[in-house]
Amino acid sequence: MNLAGNAIKFTDEGEVVVEVVPVSTQSLGLYLDDDELSASGGRTVLKVSVRDTGIGIPPEKQKVIFEAFGQADASTTRQYGGTGLGLAISTQLVELMKGDIQVESELGQGTTFWFTAEFGISPEQKLRRPSELAALRGMQVLVVDDNATNLRILHEILASWNMLPLTVDSPAAGLEMIRKSKANGEPVPLVLLDCMMPGMDGFQFAEKLRETVSGDECKVIMVSSAIQAGDSDRCRKFQIARCMPKPVMHSELLNTILTEIDPDSSFPFEPHEREAAVDVVPRRILLAEDGLVNQRVATGFLERRGHQVVVVSDGEQAIEAVDRESFDLVLMDVQMPKIDGFAATAAIRRREQATGQHLPIIAMTANAMKGDRERCLAAGMDDYVAKPVEADRLFAAVEAVQPGVLATGATPKQVPSSVHATPADLPVAEEIVSVTAASEPVSEAQVRGEKLVDWDAAMQKMPSGEATARDLAGLLLEEAPKYVEQMRKARHDGDARVLRRAAHTLKGSAAIFSIDSIVELCQEMETRAAAEDYQSAAKLLENIAEAVDRLITELKDFLGI
Ligand code: ADP
Repeated sequence: MNLAGNAIKFTDEGEVVVEVVPVSTQSLGLYLDDDELSASGGRTVLKVSVRDTGIGIPPEKQKVIFEAFGQADASTTRQYGGTGLGLAISTQLVELMKGDIQVESELGQGTTFWFTAEFGISPEQKLRRPSELAALRGMQVLVVDDNATNLRILHEILASWNMLPLTVDSPAAGLEMIRKSKANGEPVPLVLLDCMMPGMDGFQFAEKLRETVSGDECKVIMVSSAIQAGDSDRCRKFQIARCMPKPVMHSELLNTILTEIDPDSSFPFEPHEREAAVDVVPRRILLAEDGLVNQRVATGFLERRGHQVVVVSDGEQAIEAVDRESFDLVLMDVQMPKIDGFAATAAIRRREQATGQHLPIIAMTANAMKGDRERCLAAGMDDYVAKPVEADRLFAAVEAVQPGVLATGATPKQVPSSVHATPADLPVAEEIVSVTAASEPVSEAQVRGEKLVDWDAAMQKMPSGEATARDLAGLLLEEAPKYVEQMRKARHDGDARVLRRAAHTLKGSAAIFSIDSIVELCQEMETRAAAEDYQSAAKLLENIAEAVDRLITELKDFLGI
């Protein structure tokens, strides 16, 4: 940061380039294979260089600047500001990281600072060679860009995917190359095209290109720093398959190229999710959750990401599963039948006192209320994700946990029987009382409002669009009336716990489909149940039942049954 900051500070014109290369191979080794990884002993030395075209540093000053308060020129300090401490601190950090820092500079021409430092290699690295890259091996790609640095960067990226990049710094040379390759009967199948070039811009290039090769023969991906209104029309006209903003991210470029060369391979996930999925070391996860819809959504996200999921639907089963098998972590719903998430966590933590182990437990709850996180942590949980679960947040929490179980392969485990406790030994968890602001019950009008489910919005939230939506709609159709029944019985019996739990679970499922009215009604029911206010719960229950009836009709419509 210090070097890049300085480079920008002392450069008025030209460019600043930051480059990172592994010292051992001196190549842009994006993917280590297993042998390389084990040979490295899990450590690697990287060389980071920051090159600028700025004011430069006179030779006699190139030593002092590394000393505390050393500055090349008092007058530049007045002009540019600064303390003279940055490089001194950088030098110490680099030494601590077993590296070296140096400078090369020519006055008025520019400066290159570089340092080496030793880093650990993430275990995630192991799976980094995506099999999809096979499709790119040996494929020619023409890069047309007037900026030499861009050409070099793109060349390295493309070569690291085993593509064969041909780089030219002028549109005319690019057209010539395409003509030749077409005449040889093997037109270059892909062009990466800069937009702003002197003489002929990217669109003009594409127009000329189309005189020689068709859009099917040669895909064009344009890279532009300023995408303007009207560009998409021009893209269509000259069959430019994609227009990407500059600077290009590796992962996005890879996704775009893969999608363009094989449109059928398109992935159900967003690009960034898809790229990340390739790198993930799978975790073995116990999911303790009683709501069918939430079970399916979480499992859908996690399995598609490559994780292994074992599902149980109450706290008692969760404890048994943890006794019986090895997991990297537990995703624990808070409100569950028999034993809730807090009590189950407490039981698991108590057993761990004998073994000294610590199984990460991540709470999942739709009680998205202030203080929930603290309550979960106090109960011995390690982290917290709010429901309805969002893929990114879920992945972040799950993947913050060290993997390990699947690598050793020992999933079932032998536990001395004395460690087993019967559920009856378990303390009842302290009830968490939701403290919602005394909200008005949802109005009848709201309940009677238009459609309950916005299918388009709902499908966007689901792991893979319509197929999942249908699957989940089927589950909701099955479980929603059950929870209404449970609430009825619980209210009649005066069982506040069950009443709350049923409302809570239905709320969680409804939230997945963004059915706000049912979410609110159930939330209200949770509050009433906590206060053991059975009187007003009766009216509320009728509203819920009515909404659920309408929901059932909508779900059946959607499913065509
Ligand atoms: P600061 O920038 O806060 O003064 P640094 O220790 O980071 O402190 O830099 C010390 C001095 O080195 C700067 O004041 C400047 O004179 C010189 N210097 C550092 N980087 C560059 C660069 N890229 N180009 C020209 N001069 C530089």
